[in-house]
Amino acid sequence: MTALPLIFDAPRRGKPPRHLADLTRDEARAAVAELGQPAFRADQLARHFYRGVTDPAQMTDLPADAREALTQALLPGLLTVVRHQTADDGRTRKTLWRLHDGALVESVLMRYPERATVCISSQAGCGMACPFCATGQQGLTRNLSAAEIIGQAVAAAAAMADGELDGGPGRLSNVVFMGMGEPLANYPRVRKTLEALLAPAPHGLGLSQRSVTVSTVGLVPAIRRLTEEGRNVTLAVSLHAPDDELRDTLVPINTRWKVGEVIDAADAYARKTGRRYSIEYALIRDVNDQPFRADLLGRLLAGKLAHVNLIPLNPTPGSKWDASPLPAQREFVARLRAAGVPTTVRDTRGQDIDGACGQLAAADSVDLGVPSVAVPVPSVEAPVELGAEGDE
Ligand code: SAH
Repeated sequence: MTALPLIFDAPRRGKPPRHLADLTRDEARAAVAELGQPAFRADQLARHFYRGVTDPAQMTDLPADAREALTQALLPGLLTVVRHQTADDGRTRKTLWRLHDGALVESVLMRYPERATVCISSQAGCGMACPFCATGQQGLTRNLSAAEIIGQAVAAAAAMADGELDGGPGRLSNVVFMGMGEPLANYPRVRKTLEALLAPAPHGLGLSQRSVTVSTVGLVPAIRRLTEEGRNVTLAVSLHAPDDELRDTLVPINTRWKVGEVIDAADAYARKTGRRYSIEYALIRDVNDQPFRADLLGRLLAGKLAHVNLIPLNPTPGSKWDASPLPAQREFVARLRAAGVPTTVRDTRGQDIDGACGQLAAADSVDLGVPSVAVPVPSVEAPVELGAEGDE
């Protein structure tokens, strides 16, 4: 496996066009006023956007002669569907999106009996270089804007409402930042996205904090910042090894922030929010699935407000690694439970469409011959460095 460098600074590319979802409410009202319209039209536009209405003709509460101008100015189509792929009897759908500059990202919508979850991307590619992850092997193209991230969730909510997944109309209930990218390396935009996911209509999707999960390789300063900002979303930490020696190779950011520091930061988050965090652990045959590592992980987490989510490795192209066999998985689970650590094994949706965890790698597979559909979504600002101040 070739070792890739860690990349924190996203390359600067042209900004997406301005979009309502990137603006504060005051900025949106000012932008509407500049077009000669009363400021309350910003709220009307927001309501349409978060309901997934993209066609100006349907915006009948706006004056007919102003709809086009308002839509063009504040709701430009930022995400274009390149293709949808479905799996799991129509209950999982992966969407490949093209952004304004040609960058490609994917999101995956999964329907369960009691919930519907969308897995969204926060960056095009990823700079964290985890060797078992397809996105990590692709490198970082750029940060997504808040509107580009929010747009994936809005499109999923609209798809559920319209009954596009098997099972009829439903409601999007959960959002996980487990698509492409490291969300905490794109902090200000992800922060803005969280606000939009949680805000009630017309300014957001009105999701509950516990149903939104931010998953990170363990960028300790950003976890601490999230802790200070007082949102109670679910935190997931991609640990994959309980010891620094192995984690340095599986999650290269570990060379900067060690296992102990990451767990300390997650514990502080749990203390502040009262919420249990998740430890993600991809079980890789003969790499990190030994009984002694289960015991080490059990000792690391015993008595903490943590839960382990084991993911049988989804093999990626060119990788020498494979998922742990079932007996090894069972033994790992049993040892963690014996240590008193709540443990589950993740159901892997969308494996046959390369839509499962760590399989998203949009750049290698674009068929430009596929007809595309424009979906109105967001704009944003320039990439920021890790830990840079917010730009909201
Ligand atoms: N950058 C974030 C989000 C990435 S994807 C993070 O690392 O947490 C969400 C989860 O899928 C992470 O836990 C990631 O480590 C895991 N993952 C990546 N590649 C995988 C693979 N091939 N098989 C199983 N899980 C994988």
